[in-house]
Amino acid sequence: MRNEEDQHLIGRFGLFVLARDEEAFVRAEWADIAIRLRRIGLWGGLAFGTGTVVDWFMLSRNASYWGLLALRLLIMLLGFHLATVARPEAVPRRRALILAALVFQISILIAARIVSVSHGIFNPYMAIAGVLYTLIFYAYAPILVPANAWLMPLWALSALPAVVMAMHPPVTAIVGWSLMISITNLLGWQLAMQSSRSLRLNWLARVRLEREITSRILAEQNLEQLFEVCPVPLLLVNEQANSLLRANGAALSMLGNDPLADDQALRKVLDALRGGSGSGPVDLRMRAGGGSVIDVLVKARRLRYDRDRALLISLVEITERKRHEDELRRLAQVDALTGLYNRRGFFSMAETAIARENRGPLSVVLCDADHFKRINDEHGHAAGDRVLQHMAATMAAHTREGDVIARIGGEEFALLLPDATNETALQLADRMRHKLAATPVRCGTAELSVTLSAGVATLDTDETGIDLALRRADAAMYRAKQGGRNRVEAAV
Ligand code: GH3
Ligand code: MG
Ligand code: MG
Repeated sequence: MRNEEDQHLIGRFGLFVLARDEEAFVRAEWADIAIRLRRIGLWGGLAFGTGTVVDWFMLSRNASYWGLLALRLLIMLLGFHLATVARPEAVPRRRALILAALVFQISILIAARIVSVSHGIFNPYMAIAGVLYTLIFYAYAPILVPANAWLMPLWALSALPAVVMAMHPPVTAIVGWSLMISITNLLGWQLAMQSSRSLRLNWLARVRLEREITSRILAEQNLEQLFEVCPVPLLLVNEQANSLLRANGAALSMLGNDPLADDQALRKVLDALRGGSGSGPVDLRMRAGGGSVIDVLVKARRLRYDRDRALLISLVEITERKRHEDELRRLAQVDALTGLYNRRGFFSMAETAIARENRGPLSVVLCDADHFKRINDEHGHAAGDRVLQHMAATMAAHTREGDVIARIGGEEFALLLPDATNETALQLADRMRHKLAATPVRCGTAELSVTLSAGVATLDTDETGIDLALRRADAAMYRAKQGGRNRVEAAV
């Protein structure tokens, strides 16, 4: 009620303080208000008109009979007029309605008084009839202006002179009648005021409800629009039934017409939500509409939809970003000159290989080019590079899938050989050494030969790091250098 811009205050007689509110109320409640006034006009007019039968017998068709007949016809006309203005299908006109009702009500009350004066008597039956009229009026005639409320009290007062003159014994009858009519008016007043007030309050409540419903519907429509135009793919999923409730255009074009076809992806989202990561984001790999595999960043939020628990899931495709990230990660672990792993890549791969469950023997080979500086000095850096590439190719040709080859220093290489015993690793290193020594590299007109010295070490099955084994292999390689180069030594 105390809402800033719409304070619909209800004042005296249960009427709205502002005429604007009364207008709106009468317009909205026309069907109910008009039908009551229409009946009052029709039945009141008819009832008053038929009173002419009583006049016929009581007044013996003298001049006052014809006068009263004219009066009764006039009242009937006014009643019909009111009934016409108050037609349910008529355009609601509050002022015309108030005027027609007031004219009819005042006229019929005055006419009734004239009739009783003409008849020259006032008996208890008339008094009782007056009380009944009063009650019916209060219960049935809607209050539209304050004047409506004063009609019956004034009418009761206007009867006082006739009562005083007509009743015997006067004092008790006057007191009795006055009490009765006063109480009737008081009760009627209360009744009319209360119904007037509650009619208006009910109307206000309904208007507010309608307004709220309308604004909610609008808000929902706006949200739907937002959902639809949002360029981010959005899915609304029934969490219990794992069924799709809605998908926006962006989601359909990303995931195809059956966005939940890849239900494993949905399960992963649900698991991520349950697994404490809240509403995401989580990275997922899922199947797109055309069947291709894409990477997506998923965020989800739980909400209620039609009394069910639902998930609003937003998806952002990050396939390209992922590819870049993977490429960068790969580049960070690769040696640009030879295409082998670099030092960082070697340690990362070693860590994975050692951590593997039920791993077998794991051997490491450290190789260093012999007198490499000379090649650089005599044939230039580019030739040195070419030789390094040749060494890398020779090593790659001698290893199996799953072996890791890395250039971990300038002319220093390391091999990690899973499932290779010390014996196997020694044999492999020696074959490599042999092959390298036997195949010179053609560089311009020169043929460049290079040899290597290698140290081989094998990790114990309970060893959890590569460092000690590398140190052993390094010591073995040092011995190979000391021993005259172009040889392979096993760690002790
Ligand atoms: P040793 O038999 O004792 O190993 O002798 P070495 O000459 O091979 O050893 P040293 O460590 O003295 O020299 C290694 C040389 O490798 C020095 C450096 O110029 C060269 N080198 C390091 N990285 C590169 C590279 O990327 N390209 C080329 N061309 N040369 C490199
Ligand atoms: Mg070296
Ligand atoms: Mg060297």
